[in-house]
Amino acid sequence: MKRITHWIDGKPWNGTAERRGDVYDPSTGQVSGQVDFAGVAEVDQAVAAAAHAFTEWRHASLARRAGVLFAFRELVHGHRDELAALISAEHGKVRSDALGEVSRGLEVVEFACGIPQLLKGGFSENVSTRVDSFSIRQPLGVVAGITPFNFPAMVPMWMFPLAIACGNSFVLKPSEKDPSASIRLAELWAEAGLPAGVFNVLHGDKVAVDGLLEHPDVRAVSFVGSTPIARYVYEHGTGSGKRVQALGGAKNHMVVLPDADLDLAADAAVSAGFGSAGERCMAISVVVAVGDAGDPLLGKLRERVAKLRVGPGSDPSSEMGPLVTGPHRDKVASYLESGVEEGATLAIDGRRHPIEGDPEGFWLGPSVLDHVGPQMRAYADEIFGPVLSVVRVPTYQAAIELVNANPYGNGTAIFTNDGGAARRFQSEVEVGMIGINVPIPVPMAYYSFGGWKSSLFGDTHVHGTEGVHFYTRGKVVTARWLDPSHGGVNLGFPTNA
Ligand code: NAD
Repeated sequence: MKRITHWIDGKPWNGTAERRGDVYDPSTGQVSGQVDFAGVAEVDQAVAAAAHAFTEWRHASLARRAGVLFAFRELVHGHRDELAALISAEHGKVRSDALGEVSRGLEVVEFACGIPQLLKGGFSENVSTRVDSFSIRQPLGVVAGITPFNFPAMVPMWMFPLAIACGNSFVLKPSEKDPSASIRLAELWAEAGLPAGVFNVLHGDKVAVDGLLEHPDVRAVSFVGSTPIARYVYEHGTGSGKRVQALGGAKNHMVVLPDADLDLAADAAVSAGFGSAGERCMAISVVVAVGDAGDPLLGKLRERVAKLRVGPGSDPSSEMGPLVTGPHRDKVASYLESGVEEGATLAIDGRRHPIEGDPEGFWLGPSVLDHVGPQMRAYADEIFGPVLSVVRVPTYQAAIELVNANPYGNGTAIFTNDGGAARRFQSEVEVGMIGINVPIPVPMAYYSFGGWKSSLFGDTHVHGTEGVHFYTRGKVVTARWLDPSHGGVNLGFPTNA
């Protein structure tokens, strides 16, 4: 059986783990490997390796850092099929989707290749007579990333390319459900010429996370996962004096106005609701049908869902794969029952959808609950699976009130041909990432990614210039070089005369 272990100081860990976890192939339901779980001693080893590597890496020239990043970019690009296969085998998502996540992660690597430009500071000549001031940004030290199962390559790549480009060393604690991609990325970093210890991977669960949150040498923590754990990581990490950005869960609404192109809206709802089996933080989970849009839209959803091919990620004809684990599949399916008990209509029952795969896999076909209300569990909870809820509201005003009353604020979309309505929505909606006739508005690497309200704790979004800001701290230097005019004691407050 495959064994997956930590990557510390440029090589695989060679100890014996006290605890391990099973890794599954979701398309067969079989255990495909075992992953070592870090204890406090392994956390200490990884952080010590990172702290040691930092002392040199922080002084690496910008040209050298950019060179390593360019080499890493080429290697990840060259191994994208292999990475996609590793992701698909442990997560379950279809190969094309796994390739997509590698490409989106690569965009952040490409952005980080421009680190010499990104770290340019400001300079002011003569802030006082013959006195100059300039600002610089310096790395923090050892920084940690804790990431979810749903993007085992892309979400870590939201974090570590910029952290490393800024001169930090990094300890990644990926999801224990699909740990292999992170180790392949670590090998590619080594091949790219990154010094040992600058990038480390620790596998495990709460023990490893708590170890990182409490370790005095970890200066900052980036977290992406569910809201309860994001809140915990933020409170615990900041309580230990660390800088923390913690991205949480989502309940993304897609508002469809009656004037929208309903074919475009239905294509978008099906793609964004069922892509990656709904296990995306930017998935659409609620369609808000305004006015008389509901009935025709539902008809168009039915036509499209009936044609979706659900099967193993390794089969190129599959459009949607299984869910990540058996318990998660069962929990997602439970919302079909609770939704009906609470008064919704099960318009499409994914348990009846044809599955072209091993019956032991963690399957659930695409499902649609219609006439969902805000008081129902299916609406209140983040389901994180292939269940799309349709809420019907009479007006735009009712739609915006619904979206803004939701505790989450990650992504949202509006479908309309009315530019004025779209413009009003982008201004009024209390959500961090907005799509206008675009269902999954994930910002490009040179913008920053992050939600509002319970979808993000902290004040800094990931990647883009906010990422550079998060992984550095500023200094302002005020300098006067000896000059014939120098001299004289002055106890007054410094002025800029
Ligand atoms: P999760 O919160 O269960 O796990 C995330 C990470 O936290 C993992 O590394 C896990 O090992 C660790 N963890 C789990 N329980 C812990 C505990 N009690 N104490 C400390 N650490 C713990 O999330 P998941 O199920 O892996 O991923 C799905 C969730 O991630 C969804 O809620 C989804 O919306 C969210 N997500 C959010 C974004 C975003 O950008 N906002 C992106 C991707 C995923």
